[in-house]
Amino acid sequence: MSMTATATELITVANVSKSFATDGGEKTVLSDISLTIREGEIVALLGRSGSGKSTLLRCIAGLIGPTAGRVAYRGTRLNGANPGTALVFQSFALLPWFTVLENVELGLEAKGVKPAERRERALRAIDVIGLDGFESAYPKELSGGMRQRVGFARALVVEPDVLLMDEPFSALDVLTSENLRSELVRMWADGSMPTKTALIVTHNIEEAIQLADRVLVLDSNPGRIKAELAVGLPKPRDRRSPEFEALVDEVYGILTGQKAEARRTTGESTTTTAPSGPGLETPLPTASTGAIGGLLELLAAHGGTEGLAEIADELRYEIDDLLPVVDAANLLNLARPQGPDLRITEQGRRYAASDLLRAKEQFATLAVEAAPLVRHIVRALRHSDSGSLRADDVLTELKALYGDEAEQQLDTAIDWGRYGELYEFDSDSDRLLLPTHPDAAAGADHRDAHEG
Ligand code: ADP
Ligand code: MG
Repeated sequence: MSMTATATELITVANVSKSFATDGGEKTVLSDISLTIREGEIVALLGRSGSGKSTLLRCIAGLIGPTAGRVAYRGTRLNGANPGTALVFQSFALLPWFTVLENVELGLEAKGVKPAERRERALRAIDVIGLDGFESAYPKELSGGMRQRVGFARALVVEPDVLLMDEPFSALDVLTSENLRSELVRMWADGSMPTKTALIVTHNIEEAIQLADRVLVLDSNPGRIKAELAVGLPKPRDRRSPEFEALVDEVYGILTGQKAEARRTTGESTTTTAPSGPGLETPLPTASTGAIGGLLELLAAHGGTEGLAEIADELRYEIDDLLPVVDAANLLNLARPQGPDLRITEQGRRYAASDLLRAKEQFATLAVEAAPLVRHIVRALRHSDSGSLRADDVLTELKALYGDEAEQQLDTAIDWGRYGELYEFDSDSDRLLLPTHPDAAAGADHRDAHEG
């Protein structure tokens, strides 16, 4: 279906920002988001994990209020739950002692619909979503895919204007999700889907391009709309077609191209507390040193340059797996994204060709130069009397900056620092330590005892 600018505007998001309090600070998750959803269109919201997709969806559903800006349904500003939407989550909390039919009816019970009408509408939704014959089954008798269909039926039964979906296929295995996705596409195409308008949150590029008329790409830290793509391909879409693949490439380019801009804009600080070192407000890409090394070897084996989509295919990675590794390689000056491709740098070639000892040395130098958190820990260790730090103290400091991502940040910094032999981590005492020299161990123990 082709959209015109005159179609009714069902959802309006205007200059929405959302911040959450963290231990000792505040984190801006969404920054100045504006978007509209018009009747009849399917919009995908694509972004990495943690970019604020679910937060934005919850604002649109009216489950939480924005810190600034406004959300409106059919021109009326929300003041509580959005009356025109229903939500499908990643996995559904079905009531185990209720049948499929009863679980679907629940959506209507909450709306005060009378029993007879409830039953009739629930049966219709069950039919539409392909659960015919399972009306009296209990959730435990159903596969994951069938349970997710119950989730869809429960959302569709209220006949919302706009179906909001938060990664609805990501808890399913590949074949099941493929099956359910294609069925949705078919239902939208043949008109059997009662709700014509949808917003689907996903971190899967192909899913976004397969389903949506329009893809909004969300940037991270803080979440803002980075780009918007119209997907004009006829449905159902052939993901092996050159046009489809070109769009996938374009999105990869947008997603990896964001890094430089994100760095430029960190002056607008994502927190209100002053970081205790320059650059600390930008989180480390959470990639393991093993994955970074593997990526460089793969690049080197492909002559130095390879398409990001091809790399993801080869590794069977989704963007949440691949992009942090790409970001880390970029941060460490080992590889550079160029449009849809990733190209190894001179530094990266040397790294890929080095033996372990040299690779570790090189990694240590690059990490101290480019990774603020690693540098911060090295400095703090050098300034501490004991040559050690309680990991818990570092974590407390990081929580103010990164909220519940603090632990991932610390884990990554520990992995990087350990690999580069910049510091050690002793899990028994929960301490970070400067590298031990064989004859320094006794002294370190002694000092620890004094520090208490
Ligand atoms: P996504 O869905 O894109 O993975 P989310 O919207 O779930 O991202 O989360 C974005 C960021 O907001 C994350 O860093 C998350 O920790 C933070 N966040 C989400 N909800 C809350 C909350 N209620 N309190 C504090 N932080 C939150
Ligand atoms: Mg989410």
